Amino acid sequence: MKIIANIAKMQEFSRQVRLGGLSVGFVPTMGYLHDGHLELVRRARTECDVVVASIFVNPTQFNNPADFDKYPRNDQRDAELLLSERTDVLFKPHADDVYVGDASTTVAVSGLTDSLCGPGRPGHFEGVATVVTALFNMVGADKAFFGEKDFQQLQVIRRMVRDLHVPVEIVGVPTRRESDGLAMSSRNARLTEGQRKLAPVIYRALNAAVDAYIEGEDEAVAVVDAARAELSSVEELEVEYLELVDARTMKPAETADENSVLAVAALLGDVRLIDNILFARALAPDAAFDACEAHAVPDVIEYGSH
Ligand code: AMP
Repeated sequence: MKIIANIAKMQEFSRQVRLGGLSVGFVPTMGYLHDGHLELVRRARTECDVVVASIFVNPTQFNNPADFDKYPRNDQRDAELLLSERTDVLFKPHADDVYVGDASTTVAVSGLTDSLCGPGRPGHFEGVATVVTALFNMVGADKAFFGEKDFQQLQVIRRMVRDLHVPVEIVGVPTRRESDGLAMSSRNARLTEGQRKLAPVIYRALNAAVDAYIEGEDEAVAVVDAARAELSSVEELEVEYLELVDARTMKPAETADENSVLAVAALLGDVRLIDNILFARALAPDAAFDACEAHAVPDVIEYGSH
């Protein structure tokens, strides 16, 4: 596995790979890797010839500087895990190179970011969309892999790629969970033993809502209440939001259907956990789920001859 820090070298590496007729799969991460990240790498491995994973703890997506400082890091272990999954390149750019001194360009995706994590984390999605756009320009991938765990983020990236005609295919990968249902997250490491035992209530609550829907309930309020009842069984949990939204717009839904996503953010102590359940996937686990309208494929007109 190559470890590349230099942006120009990364661009040149991908250019050479693609000139040679091979495809590049890209997995952007903030490190402190767990099996959820590795699932993205494995998926990239099956779909692309060369796999690039990046580790970059992006300062501009933390609306709280203390959260950035507390973000866990373990470079050595991350490199070993990526190597064990046959990653070809670990790309670790320096913050000073990613954000040149007077950088003044950002990418903002409106609408999709008005709900859920948007209002409570001002600037977060702008930071994400900007750094992902920059990383795409550095890595030059054919496909990029993102987790459904951060579903709003995934939809923001899909929309940005569609709207700016970025030549990369976005692949969403289902959430990897611990055996008790807790979504894997780098933040789980900061839970106390007691909090860790309580945390699976989040996934139980999401399932309670889907069960209510399967049993015939389709009023959003009632579906959400089924989850809320389960969450309220753990009084240490402080719910930031629990909302049923339409996956295509991220706007609140009045009735549940197969485009619904129930998303939750909650604090256990000072650890903020997010999770969601896609109704379409809960009903048909292997179904592909995109929920982002594609552009029509443009015509190519042959003009003259060579
Ligand atoms: P992060 O390092 O938290 O920025 O995450 C990097 C990528 O891994 C993002 O696309 C996440 O959605 C994805 N990811 C994080 N946790 C999981 C998980 N439990 N299952 C699947 N993907 C995940």
